[in-house]
Parts: sequence; C-alpha cells; structure tokens
Amino acid sequence: MTKVLYPGSFDPITKGHMNIVEQASDLFDEVIIAVMQNPMKGSGMFTVEERMEMIQELYKRMKNVKVISASGAAVDVAILHECKAIIRGLRSLSDYDYEVGLQQINKEISDNKVNTICLFADKDYQFVSSSMVKEVFKLGKDVSRYVDPIVQEKMLVKRGMIV
Ligand code: ADP
Repeated sequence: MTKVLYPGSFDPITKGHMNIVEQASDLFDEVIIAVMQNPMKGSGMFTVEERMEMIQELYKRMKNVKVISASGAAVDVAILHECKAIIRGLRSLSDYDYEVGLQQINKEISDNKVNTICLFADKDYQFVSSSMVKEVFKLGKDVSRYVDPIVQEKMLVKRGMIV
C-alpha cells in the first residue's frame, strides 16, 4: 500500500489543488492532504480548522483521500503517517525553482527517507493560486471557475455576503 502526503496551506483549496489530488489518488493507494500551519504566512482567510472542514466535505465520498492538519516539517508528518513521498503541484518555472530547493531540503532533513513527487497542473488551472482567488474575490468578482461551490459559499459567508 503506497501512501503519499500532499502538504500545503490550502487557504482555500482551489480547483488546481483538486486536480493534483485527483491525479495523485489515481496513482497511489492513499492520499493524505495535510493542511499545514505556516506561521510565516500569517493568519490567512480561513483558519486551519475551516480549511480542513471544507476539504473533508469535498472528499467525504473518496475513500482513499484523507485530510489532516499539522505543523512543523512536512517530512516529519510524512514519516509519522508512513507516507513514501510528498506530492507537490507544478504550474510554472517559478514553482519549479521553489520546489527544487524544497525537495532537496526535505531529502536532507529526512535523511533520504522522504522523496518528493511533482505532478503537473492541468492547463486549465495553470494560473490558479489561492492568493489569486482571494484577490479576485476581494474585487467582488465571481470565483466559481477557480474553486468548488462548497468553497465559494464559505468565502461568501466569511465576507458576510450570505448567511
Ligand atoms: P504552500 O504554501 O505549501 O505553497 P499551497 O496551498 O499554496 O501551499 O500549495 C500547495 C501545493 O499545491 C504546492 O505544491 C503548489 O505548487 C501546488 N498548487 C497550488 N496551486 C496549484 C494549481 N493551480 N495547480 C497545481 N498545483 C498547484
């Protein structure tokens, strides 16, 4: 049984992230999505609990997708949950530059126990990021192309636009 960990901020989860989850769940027996507490990124739009709840709701019918929250090093979380590798999504060259450094550090700090597998974003979601979705939303524009309706609704509730 091959388990993999997909760590990220997911503030909020986008259709780009969901595309990576779909690809990973086709390839591996189990995908654990880890909503990481990242003190460097500030408090964000949603709390870690809210992000987790949304993801749980999205994948409640998918038996091989689990959701956890965690803090600290993603490699430690991967080892704790017996994951063979960390999954990351690649959109562009700038993602590549960042991810290539990250995977090297993750190999070093895990004594080569945890590898990284990069999956490519579908062309439709190549430019989708959580921060872009939040910007578009702040401008009062429709974000339904970028996030699931469950997430869009939570964003509207957060802004007091629906109750
Ligand atoms: P982090 O703070 O760890 O970068 P994110 O939630 O922004 O967390 O992203 C988690 C992972 O998902 C990263 O590997 C990121 O490159 C990837 N990702 C984000 N958006 C997309 C997308 N539209 N398509 C594919 N991968 C994506």
